[in-house]
Amino acid sequence: MKRLAILGSTGSIGTQALEVVAANPGLFEVEVLSAHSNAELLIKQSREFSPNAVVVTDESKYKLVKDALSDLPIKVFSGNKSLSEVVQWESIDTVLGAIVGFAGLQSILAAIDAGKRIALANKETLVVAGELVMGRAAAKNVQIIPVDSEHSAIFQCLVGEDRQTVEKVVLTASGGPFLGRKQNFLVNVKASHALQHPNWTMGAKISIDSATLMNKGLEVIEAKWLFGLRNEQIDVVIHPQSIIHSMVQFNDGSLKAQMGLPDMKLPIQYAIAYPGRLANNLKRFDFKEFSKLSFEQPDYKTFRNLAIAKEALDKAGNAPCVMNAANEVVVHAFLQNRVGFLEMSDMIEKTLERVDFIQHPTLEDYMRSDEDARAYTAEFLKKSQLSIY
Ligand code: NAD
Ligand code: MG
Repeated sequence: MKRLAILGSTGSIGTQALEVVAANPGLFEVEVLSAHSNAELLIKQSREFSPNAVVVTDESKYKLVKDALSDLPIKVFSGNKSLSEVVQWESIDTVLGAIVGFAGLQSILAAIDAGKRIALANKETLVVAGELVMGRAAAKNVQIIPVDSEHSAIFQCLVGEDRQTVEKVVLTASGGPFLGRKQNFLVNVKASHALQHPNWTMGAKISIDSATLMNKGLEVIEAKWLFGLRNEQIDVVIHPQSIIHSMVQFNDGSLKAQMGLPDMKLPIQYAIAYPGRLANNLKRFDFKEFSKLSFEQPDYKTFRNLAIAKEALDKAGNAPCVMNAANEVVVHAFLQNRVGFLEMSDMIEKTLERVDFIQHPTLEDYMRSDEDARAYTAEFLKKSQLSIY
């Protein structure tokens, strides 16, 4: 029986993780659920899965959740500080990090410090502070098992292999809803178009990141830290069918791939059940339905975010943290139709130029860089809106 804390239980990953738990009675026990503001769903999930504790990080929702669960023996907490305390509880084995964005960093660090195994969906944690997070995990002998499908694929390809024999990894990218489009088309796209991903149904933020290819940029950085790679060992290839989830090339030229129909429940269940593999009834790949798997090079000129992310990785220090913060702000604005699709990259670049570079940041430096970057990007957004009206 694995005892889980699911952070971000009301999101796309969180709800699918609970589906996996429900489909495997007797294998998992839900110890903790957390969500930010979707109190209604958090209450419903708590009634169904009877966790020991729930944390609603949006403090204005505390009373609502507390009152709704008052007839049950469930402890209710609110705020980020409580979340970082609760994840350290003795009764938890594995923490599934499925909060979106920088907001997920501190609770994951707290869980690592308490020696919990981590199933990590929240890629921004590694983008912002990968060196620090992996360093702390190594010091505590904590394993970080990726949930992101590409990284799960690489992780699965590496089972039984000597890490020294890895030549490179190849991250596959679907290309998102705007694959093959150019600037003249992208200049007019709205959030509603960008939210329609061809192969995956995901939360709003990652859906926009997939459309701009920032998601792949974040994943390049995530791969570096998860697998201890040099930057030049990470390639990206566009593979629109999303059947090959990623690949590892070894020093004898062998390429190993992990394949299957795209369904996040598979990498989620692999991560929370690791090292076991669980049987399931997910739809199987059928060769009759796919006569062709295709590959092409990413268009770095049109989808500049992927190039920006690679540059931030090469620059290192706090650059990926600054880029991530700027991206979170512009994506939020894009979802509200307050900024254009192509303008997002301009503002991320301008923010990277503005925030002071720190070569070896501490956790406090990351927190400040994140805050500074958000402030600058918000300023750029305001200026661009003033120039429109
Ligand atoms: P989502 O927006 O659907 O859900 C986010 C969850 O985080 C919700 O439960 C929400 O309550 C919680 N949350 C949001 N802001 C918070 C805050 N400030 N403090 C605490 N909790 C907060 O997102 P998602 O699509 O499930 O993605 C979650 C993470 O997993 C992201 O980092 C994403 O990049 C990664 N991921 C998602 C997918 C996918 O298919 N959805 C695939 C790979 C990786
Ligand atoms: Mg992914």
